[in-house]
Amino acid sequence: MKIKEVDVAVVGAGSAGLSAAYQAASAGAKVLVLDENHRPGGQLFKQIHKFFGSRAHQAGTRGFVIGQHLLDRVQESGAEVWLDTLVYGMQKDCALGVIHEGQHWVVKAKKVIVATGAKENYLAFPGSTLPGVMGAGAAQTMINVNRVLPGQRVLMLGSGNVGLIVSYQLMQAGAEVVALVEAAPNIGGYGVHAGKIRRAGVPVYVSHTIKEIRGKDQVEQVEIVQVDSKFQPVPGTEQVFDVDTVCLAVGLNPMTELIWMAGCEFCFIPAFGGHVPLHDENMETTVPGLYVAGDVTGVEEASSAMEEGNLAGVSAAQALGLLTQEEAEAKKGEIRARLDILRSGMFGEKRRTAKLSQLKSMEEYQLKKGGAV
Ligand SMILES: Cc1cc2nc3c(=O)[nH]c(=O)nc-3n(C[C@H](O)[C@H](O)[C@H](O)COP(=O)(O)OP(=O)(O)OC[C@H]3O[C@@H](n4cnc5c(N)ncnc54)[C@H](O)[C@@H]3O)c2cc1C
Repeated sequence: MKIKEVDVAVVGAGSAGLSAAYQAASAGAKVLVLDENHRPGGQLFKQIHKFFGSRAHQAGTRGFVIGQHLLDRVQESGAEVWLDTLVYGMQKDCALGVIHEGQHWVVKAKKVIVATGAKENYLAFPGSTLPGVMGAGAAQTMINVNRVLPGQRVLMLGSGNVGLIVSYQLMQAGAEVVALVEAAPNIGGYGVHAGKIRRAGVPVYVSHTIKEIRGKDQVEQVEIVQVDSKFQPVPGTEQVFDVDTVCLAVGLNPMTELIWMAGCEFCFIPAFGGHVPLHDENMETTVPGLYVAGDVTGVEEASSAMEEGNLAGVSAAQALGLLTQEEAEAKKGEIRARLDILRSGMFGEKRRTAKLSQLKSMEEYQLKKGGAV
């Protein structure tokens, strides 16, 4: 077993982790970033579409370009990045169990920032284990990272942004999307993404779900059925499609396993994908010295993940004494102002409410413990 000691260890090299690493390293911390993937960038490198929103959040720029920019900044900042590296555990003192280049390492850091992102939800129904049924994110990785088309005729279940965006990207990659199926009475994602799907002529079945997938050794047919206002199947409304692939885009949930191991307190926020770690305004959890950022704190999107990463990186550097209180507060003020903009307006309101309830739960926890708020 080998031991590595650093000031700040960042788990996850996605939008949040890279932003955190840049902030901490450019303040002078010795930073190590760990990621199980072969390439850094997390979800960003799968996002070939242009971002929208404000200029401050790189509207009009494609996700993978933002990822490359983040990566360049991290490399210039002097942070060390270990790829193909799995963090399999975290002790209560935040020491990390790591497999790197086939060897077992223990990484000891004065501050740890966990930015492990989110994973896809799955649904069980007859035929759901047949080859050809996959998460929409998996299909997105195949086409945009590995350049492999998962199938020719695809049915997408779920009309949130992931379902809409991946449907469009599958068509760009040469597949036919035969139907987009949604159990709710309305499309869930942004109108701008839904408009592209409709203009491309994809039939959209709202208030429908999958009844069954059929096939001998792989997906051959899918049967959908209409559902009533209580999401119960309406007999006689079944329709069958010949497909070779079914993608499930039925939500994401934060990858919190390491944070549970460290003994953090959690709260349950459905709008954020389930159980999320309590943290304060500096992104520090109930375990001192353990920070969180990005989708692991509640599923949002890449721009807020970057800002939370910035916040965690600055806070860790401040706690290490590498930034004065004035320097840190100035930086954090700017970051929080940008986060407020992201969480305002029609699209951000739900996220803002969820984040406020997460911060409030942390305050209640601190009060109960008799600590400062
Ligand atoms: C399938 C999917 C599609 C999405 N599509 C969009 C979209 O189109 N537009 C948009 O704005 N947002 C999208 N999002 C959300 C957006 O990507 C995220 O909000 C943002 O990228 C989150 O950044 P992050 O750094 O928190 O996580 P990620 O970008 O997911 O990065 C997490 C990183 O942590 C690493 N990691 C996790 N666990 C470990 C471990 N134990 N050991 C080592 N490394 C580990 C992973 O390999 C990964 O690189 C999508 C998310 C998902 C899951």
